[in-house]
Amino acid sequence: MIKIIDSHCHLPKTESFSDVFTRAQNKGIVGCILNAVTESDWNQIVNIASENKSVCCALGVHPWFADSVSSHWDSDLMALMESNPKLLVGEIGLDKTRDNFDIQKNIFIHALEIAIKYKRTINIHCVHAWDEMLKILKSYKPDLPKIVVHSFDGNQNVLDFDADLYFSYSPNITNPKFKRLMESVQRVPKNKILVESDSENLLPTITAINGVLSLRNDITANDIYNNALGVFYNG
Ligand SMILES: [Zn+2]
Repeated sequence: MIKIIDSHCHLPKTESFSDVFTRAQNKGIVGCILNAVTESDWNQIVNIASENKSVCCALGVHPWFADSVSSHWDSDLMALMESNPKLLVGEIGLDKTRDNFDIQKNIFIHALEIAIKYKRTINIHCVHAWDEMLKILKSYKPDLPKIVVHSFDGNQNVLDFDADLYFSYSPNITNPKFKRLMESVQRVPKNKILVESDSENLLPTITAINGVLSLRNDITANDIYNNALGVFYNG
């Protein structure tokens, strides 16, 4: 059976993570990067990471919830990074479809600085905000960590950006409505393609990988698996 790593999933709301993961493992999804959405996810995620070597965990604050952070979110995040050397930073990012953009920007920059300080891969969310995002990332070169661009939208400026970026394709890759996304797969370096469910249920990763493989004859599922291992361990 092929081995797949889901590069972006979240905690399930209605069942236990271990049930979801067992079901996914039976279908070849042997590992995943489990991303926090708010601070309230952090402890549960850290526990899952310590119990299961095949689950890589990322702690952060999703931009949609940037205005609900506690006053000590940053010191808590640093303490957890300090005591858990394998944790990544995520999900963090910018999203112009929400009206808390200035707050998002502050939280994102602060989380990015923490990732740089502790040398952790980041898992980013970016919607309609690539101009601002690339400007911020550029200002932190050459110290940027590895960056997983979650649910990549096919933006050419991002493909051209000179940093250690990985482009993670969601099941949208199989939807003909996302023409730019489908075309972008041809231009991503072979060693930079990842796949993800972008969900609480890891199984949609299978749709994503089948979509990518149907568009790229020169890569295999094993290549994508190896790419994911490269970000899994903070490089
Ligand atoms: Zn997410």
